[in-house]
Amino acid sequence: MSNLKAQLGLPGRLDVARLREDFPILSQTVHGRPLVYLDNGASAQKPEAVIEAERRCYREYYANIHRGVHYLSQTSTTEYEAARGKVQRFLNAASDKEIVFTRGTTESINLVAHSYVRPRLRAGDEILVSAMEHHSNIVPWQLLCEETGAVLKVIPISEAGEIDLDAFAELLGERTRLLSVVHVSNALGTVNPVAEMIRQAHAKGIPVLLDGAQAVPHMPVDVQALGADFYAFSAHKLYGPTGVGVLYGKYDLLKAMRPYQGGGDMIKTVSFEKTIYADPPNRFEAGTPNIAGVIALGAAVDYLSEVGLEAIAAYEQELLDYATERLSAIPGLRIIGTAPNKAGVISFVMDGAHPHDIGTLLDEQGVAVRAGHHCAEPVMRRYAVPATARASFGLYNTREEVDVLVAAIEKVRELFGA
Ligand code: PMP
Repeated sequence: MSNLKAQLGLPGRLDVARLREDFPILSQTVHGRPLVYLDNGASAQKPEAVIEAERRCYREYYANIHRGVHYLSQTSTTEYEAARGKVQRFLNAASDKEIVFTRGTTESINLVAHSYVRPRLRAGDEILVSAMEHHSNIVPWQLLCEETGAVLKVIPISEAGEIDLDAFAELLGERTRLLSVVHVSNALGTVNPVAEMIRQAHAKGIPVLLDGAQAVPHMPVDVQALGADFYAFSAHKLYGPTGVGVLYGKYDLLKAMRPYQGGGDMIKTVSFEKTIYADPPNRFEAGTPNIAGVIALGAAVDYLSEVGLEAIAAYEQELLDYATERLSAIPGLRIIGTAPNKAGVISFVMDGAHPHDIGTLLDEQGVAVRAGHHCAEPVMRRYAVPATARASFGLYNTREEVDVLVAAIEKVRELFGA
């Protein structure tokens, strides 16, 4: 971004051709065709900076963290904790003590379920989610409900794939102990009005967890501006490594929470009579973490900050608009999820062709999309489809790739005689 643009607060334009060179995996051919990778919602590819950060860690300074007096351990600890600061700035959290490293979104949500919600939940209490949640924001709550007699309540969504805000306001009740809702839907692409939802929940004293797995790669996220109490995401969708994720939590809430797992590194002192837990975030990071992975997540955050999330958001919006226009023009193709406010995802079905067949035929043409229920079976049921094919975009995708996708879908139509 030029300084002038930065001063004016305008997003710079992405030099996508240049950025693509940062991602070594993209330059290959698949089945003899140039790879068109449109499965970013499932997981994004990694830039050289991320691969190199992990490699450097293992080659140059790797050792276990936090307890070592020797040089390698201290260097690893410094880098690991530096990543915490990077994530803090990335989310605009008030303190790096509010950043807990986990295995991913799934573990972050389970952590909140066990350490925050479980001890506060009584029979008849309610947990509120939306009808567009990923299974990882449904099943942990069902497990808690089974155990405690609490009830999972579901906010309905409209045909376009938007949260029904009137129903939402009515469902926020006396017994609601948590609102846990997806920021951006992986199955529909909808960007939910989470700031407003948080405002309404807080007005009734209800804490809010946001599943940000599909939001952080596509837009700047400011947890303080949103007012979120907890925010969960995975590194692997953010151009970072697998096996690492983040739980942001307001410090006072984290401080009042019991540990999620017991073990090394989460204690102040241990005796058989009484163990004193460490303060957050260490309290929630039992055992040896994914040290190199966390450091590489820090590199991913650095990379994205340099490219600029505003610029990425603006670019991907143009790409989404273009793809939506082109796909909508294909006879017999129906887009599932048509909310006005969407990010980077087009789910679709076609007359006469099962999504799995679409996925397989697109693959033959070098185009990687996902076909299935996207770990959101209730969404499929809501739209009465068994599955969808899903193209999901990242910062390195181009209009030309959308054209390849459209041509490949046209071939599917020909084959299925649609
Ligand atoms: N929530 C959403 C919206 C997702 O898209 C995903 C991943 N598909 C998850 C949660 C779970 O993420 P992970 O498997 O990395 O824990």
